[in-house]
Amino acid sequence: MTNIVCPNCEEEFEIYQREDSYICPECEHEFEEDEIENKNSSSNIFGLIILLVIGYFLFQWLSGPKWTLLVCEDLLNSNYRYECRDVALSLEDTYKDLNDCRVAGERYLNSYPGYECGYKCKYDTSWMGWVCKRINE
Ligand SMILES: [Zn+2]
Repeated sequence: MTNIVCPNCEEEFEIYQREDSYICPECEHEFEEDEIENKNSSSNIFGLIILLVIGYFLFQWLSGPKWTLLVCEDLLNSNYRYECRDVALSLEDTYKDLNDCRVAGERYLNSYPGYECGYKCKYDTSWMGWVCKRINE
């Protein structure tokens, strides 16, 4: 037993054996085997493309950089350069690891007092600040 879909009314019905042509019980449209095959294969390809696109973005999202560099406007503690009181600029999800982020952060030390490297950071609008899973580790 197989289910086939009428190309005219898109009603699905069961057939007991493969034949050259079918008559739809719903709209009495007569159609041939190859009409179904064509319809199915084109919708399969369309579905496959959508799946690939979703897969691509999921992969990008999973494998994308997760480290955010926060460059300090001023420091929380003037003796410690790796904790900001205020953030001057942020580069969200730009670095693939902590070391990459640190290398980039060091370059800002000429013009800014310090920086933080955060893992999986999101800007929290209610708190008006960055929230990270881990900072500097
Ligand atoms: Zn039909």
